[in-house]
Amino acid sequence: MIKPIATPSRTKEILAKHDVFAKKNYGQNFLIEPSVVEKIARSAIGEKKCVAFEIGPGIGALTQYLCEYAQKVVSFEIDERLPEVLKDTLQEYDNFEIVLQDFLTIDLNAWVEKYRQEGYEVVVAANLPYYITTPILFKIFEAEANISSITVMMQKEVADRFYAKVNTKDYNALSVITQYRCEVSPVMKVPKNVFMPKPNVDSAVLQFRFKQRNENIEEEVFFEMVKACFKQRRKTMLNNFGEYLQDKAKAMALLEQANIDPKRRGESVSLAEFLVLYEVMRNEA
Ligand code: SAM
Repeated sequence: MIKPIATPSRTKEILAKHDVFAKKNYGQNFLIEPSVVEKIARSAIGEKKCVAFEIGPGIGALTQYLCEYAQKVVSFEIDERLPEVLKDTLQEYDNFEIVLQDFLTIDLNAWVEKYRQEGYEVVVAANLPYYITTPILFKIFEAEANISSITVMMQKEVADRFYAKVNTKDYNALSVITQYRCEVSPVMKVPKNVFMPKPNVDSAVLQFRFKQRNENIEEEVFFEMVKACFKQRRKTMLNNFGEYLQDKAKAMALLEQANIDPKRRGESVSLAEFLVLYEVMRNEA
């Protein structure tokens, strides 16, 4: 590497040279601390022949480290000013490809399949644009794509919800659904002063790895049930689940069968218990 992009002086220099400013509506907060980008890249890239899909390369701060560690990097960027900048900042790398497209509109399965067929392991790495963190992650979770891991930075409060354990204030339907689909592990916390411009909130990096899918679970139904049980946070399981079934007596019977006290609230019900409740409900249908 000639020199890191993720420093305050180099970032200012690149933005000035290309007459580019950070666009708020694209969630542009550029990383200016090399140790942070290096850790994200090292955590994301495995031992095998690997392609990293990056969402939002910006001016290349993280991309540069991904290019050092992965055999190939494909970055999806929405801002049409940036390919020109990246051509300059990443000129030393020949394993980098930029795709100028909104990540939410790409055919992710087709991209993954292309590289799997060429024998690559596929990982996702990003400092996510915060205004669309959840839609981006759900696009990846819902794709039937063979992705080995997803290592991404997001707003700390959002990370806390993805990672939340049962009986904590952050635990909600998003936590249950995410932890049903993935193993979630924390990589690092990141203070707001390592970004330019500085955001109002701290950040955190999480890593997601898909779990084996359970063929016996109709996921749409399971997710609807979980969401309904958190619909009104202060209400009991009996009330929320009863409303979902539109039958309180039936809800009471099913909760009892699943060994869940009807007076409990959704936030005290573990993923394993939600799965039992789903089984009981399905067997009754
Ligand atoms: N990776 C760079 C870094 O760490 O310095 C920039 C990260 S910045 C938080 C988010 C990046 O995502 C920006 O480059 C922004 O233009 C891009 N972006 C925003 N919305 C996008 C979308 N829908 N699809 C692809 N990229 C997007």
